[in-house]
Amino acid sequence: MTRARVVQSNFGGSDPLRVLREVFGYDRFRGPQEEIVRHVIAGGSGLVLMPTGGGKSLCYQVPALCREGLAVVVSPLIALMDDQVLALRQAGVRAAALHSALASEAVSDLWRQLQRGELDLLYVSPERLLGGDLLERLQERPLALFAIDEAHCVSQWGHDFRPEYLQLQALAQRFPQVPRLALTATADPRTRGEIIQRLALEQGRVFLASFDRPNIRYLLRPKQEAREQLLAFLEEFRGEAGIVYARSRSRVDNFAALLQAAGHGAVGYHAGMDASQRSSALSRFRNDSGVVVVATIAFGMGIDKPDVRFVAHLDLPKSLEAYYQETGRAGRDGLPATAWMVHGPGDEPQLRRFIEDSEADAAQKRIEHGKLDALVGFTEAPGCRRQVLLAHLGEALAEPCGNCDRCLEPQVLEDRTVAAQKALSAVWRTGQRFGAAHLTDVLLGADTARVRSLGHQSLSVYGIGKELNREQWRTLLRQLTSQGWLEPVPEGRGGLRWGEEARVRSLLRGDLNLELPAAPPRQERRRAAAAAAAEPEADASLMTALKDWRRAQAREQGVPPYVVFHDRTLAELAARRPARLADLGQVSGIGATKLDRYGEAVLAVIEGWQAQT
Ligand code: ADP
Ligand code: ZN
Repeated sequence: MTRARVVQSNFGGSDPLRVLREVFGYDRFRGPQEEIVRHVIAGGSGLVLMPTGGGKSLCYQVPALCREGLAVVVSPLIALMDDQVLALRQAGVRAAALHSALASEAVSDLWRQLQRGELDLLYVSPERLLGGDLLERLQERPLALFAIDEAHCVSQWGHDFRPEYLQLQALAQRFPQVPRLALTATADPRTRGEIIQRLALEQGRVFLASFDRPNIRYLLRPKQEAREQLLAFLEEFRGEAGIVYARSRSRVDNFAALLQAAGHGAVGYHAGMDASQRSSALSRFRNDSGVVVVATIAFGMGIDKPDVRFVAHLDLPKSLEAYYQETGRAGRDGLPATAWMVHGPGDEPQLRRFIEDSEADAAQKRIEHGKLDALVGFTEAPGCRRQVLLAHLGEALAEPCGNCDRCLEPQVLEDRTVAAQKALSAVWRTGQRFGAAHLTDVLLGADTARVRSLGHQSLSVYGIGKELNREQWRTLLRQLTSQGWLEPVPEGRGGLRWGEEARVRSLLRGDLNLELPAAPPRQERRRAAAAAAAEPEADASLMTALKDWRRAQAREQGVPPYVVFHDRTLAELAARRPARLADLGQVSGIGATKLDRYGEAVLAVIEGWQAQT
């Protein structure tokens, strides 16, 4: 990082939308961001509850640049701080981190910058903020705000309690004029109350965003052969980054070895490994592409890698909150991601034993059993997974989501005898040689050139199937084929004919009933299709060229690739293929500094790719 290129980011008093566009390269605020940002710029305090990937960082980063003075961000994890600082510097913001891993030279540098007012944002661990003389130093400086990230760490009820966080109460007394913004992805109402009380935010506002993560697909599977099931699942994700959670260290070691043997870039991670092994696993995961971490729950908090494409659970997590947090590490960039879990009847008794054998007192054990009940209830509840999950977080989702196993693969059986009879008749009457598209036209009574040239509009089956739509007929014809009622015509380019004739005739006579899985309601599919349509169509080979360029850039600067550009930005580049700097600036995630720094190089990559194709 060349210091000279970090531009003077004095945006004091400027418009938040301008800062969003020019510094971060985004067109508009997301969800409640704008309201929060304006509230803080006006000097207000508050609590922000937003899911992982929801965009919490901008809620304090934008006001930090709009308000006079230094913004202090309290964050519990070094990796998290360093990532944020790298990303901000890429965007031309004067940011630094102060934590125990910082060399003493770097610390004196930092004091100098602080003294001269050369910093916009300072990330600091709670120990460093409250331990030395930092508070005294800050008292002499104009301060824009305090942001308290991962604020649930202050809650003893929550899952990540950190005693140091309790001392943050002091901020309200020592800096009563400075806005305090607490942020967390934990929605649980009890934790929320505790944060407000302990950080003295009673006078502030609470901003509650929806906790739905629509881009995450939830897939739960009965546990049979976990090894084979995992390998089969991972085939779809070769070359993508992901996390596989297992309960014990030995299972982590075994599964990591299994994946390595199957040719995946897999690393293990658990508390039993020594620190250097763990940090090398972490750095491979962050910096290389397509690394799968097999881990116990010791791995996770502070991982803000945006392009994790899947999270797989080989064992039940401890609670539904834990499941939500762990799966929430997938798809922070908003692109499609999958949360996959195998679970079986053997998991629950084992977890009950863990609770009973733990040191906790009776009251705590009751709480833990209750949490496990909720989790088991989730795995067994009929209907949409997302509705159950969100209901647990206190949020009602009106419609089934269309993006979970229950919505996508419903197992409710329906009597489809009549529809099947119509389809089989249509196959017979048209001469047992047409494919699903034409058969559907005939059943729906469509007026196509093909129908007319074949004279099929005069058949008795023409237009007898208007009760189903095109998609439903296609599904039914697929089901009839997979069950042997229909079979492909040999060399028939998709043509279909009857399967075993005696069996088909008995169905046509009504001697037996046919039950098939019900199709998901139409409305849900629209939602899934609409989500897919919103994504621009990126050219895969250009995407590869852009990723190669990004990897080289990142390596040169010693930063993770995603702080240079997110996948999402590359995908938009590969779809829009801008030819001029001005067009490049319109792409999401390219602010003024990145345009200046990388614009020409990116255009050259696109141009070079175009010359080759
Ligand atoms: P959180 O801390 O809530 O998990 P982040 O602040 O890391 O989430 O944001 C998640 C992702 O969303 C990041 O890649 C960020 O750049 C992107 N993002 C946030 N706000 C916006 C916005 N208004 N427009 C476009 N992208 C955004
Ligand atoms: Zn669903």
